[in-house]
Amino acid sequence: MRLARGRCFGVEAGIALCALPQGWLWRVALPDGRIWAQFLGDAADPEPAPARLVAAITAGTRCAPAPTLRLAGPLIAREAAPRLPAPVTDLRCLPVGDAFAAMDPLSGHGQFWAVSSALAAAAARRTLTADPASEDRCLRYLRERAAETAWRMARVGRDFLALETRFSGQPFWAARRALPDSLPAHESREGFAVAQALVIDNGLITEREVLKTPCSPAGIGWFGRLPAPEIYRLAQAGPEALRQRFGPQAEALLAAIESERTSPHQRVENPS
Ligand SMILES: Cc1cc2nc3c(=O)[nH]c(=O)nc-3n(C[C@H](O)[C@H](O)[C@H](O)COP(=O)(O)OP(=O)(O)OC[C@H]3O[C@@H](n4cnc5c(N)ncnc54)[C@H](O)[C@@H]3O)c2cc1C
Repeated sequence: MRLARGRCFGVEAGIALCALPQGWLWRVALPDGRIWAQFLGDAADPEPAPARLVAAITAGTRCAPAPTLRLAGPLIAREAAPRLPAPVTDLRCLPVGDAFAAMDPLSGHGQFWAVSSALAAAAARRTLTADPASEDRCLRYLRERAAETAWRMARVGRDFLALETRFSGQPFWAARRALPDSLPAHESREGFAVAQALVIDNGLITEREVLKTPCSPAGIGWFGRLPAPEIYRLAQAGPEALRQRFGPQAEALLAAIESERTSPHQRVENPS
């Protein structure tokens, strides 16, 4: 997209992200007058995509008079709808990234998920090679991880978009404020508990004890290299038990347990 030269006084070079009634716009204005823009809108809108893009850039570029715009090349349109993962049933061909589950592009989760799901697939391949009888364990790990991550990220994206209250009645925003449900984005729990869970241990998917805490409700396996459940049990016997076992490291371990008592999300909501 190129701004007609001489007609766009006041468009300063730089990056802007703005919410509009019909969606949101991300754009970079270059000093030579060119604009790179990404507009996300509702695919169901009957207006042709090039006209919608130009309208969005005009609305998102505050300057007087309104800039005159023309496309510098063909517009590229891509689907960017969130998609929850289907349960993994076949370990011979593992989907990763967008082929597995797609995230809202505004949330920044797409790149994270592409890497994270690829690491999970690699762990499953390694585990199957090391132990061919581990099929059920690998399937369970991949399913749990995908479902937990995709639902959490969909809810985080929902909460993020809900912060824009001016256009909540508009079709684009109304559909996204309701997806996927109204449950909290982050699991919450009171107190500590030791439970069994699937973790990656030495590169392999393994079932072992984890420590569930208000800060890490899904559980933590280790403080540094030391098993978290063992540290917690020793700390319950009293700080002296930890000091006898770990010497000078004990104070740092006690501090690590203490920092697990509060959820980071509670800390944000109640900064006091
Ligand atoms: C408009 C838009 C904006 C986005 N913005 C962000 C953002 O700001 N932050 C963020 O984290 N995520 C963002 N995302 C999401 C992010 O781009 C994706 O989640 C991420 O790229 C997924 O990575 P992937 O490797 O699974 O797929 P892709 O990045 O799509 O890679 C798949 C590759 O496979 C190739 N391919 C397809 N078919 C074949 C074939 N048959 N043979 C060989 N090669 C093939 C494709 O050409 C492509 O290179 C955005 C997405 C869109 C559409």
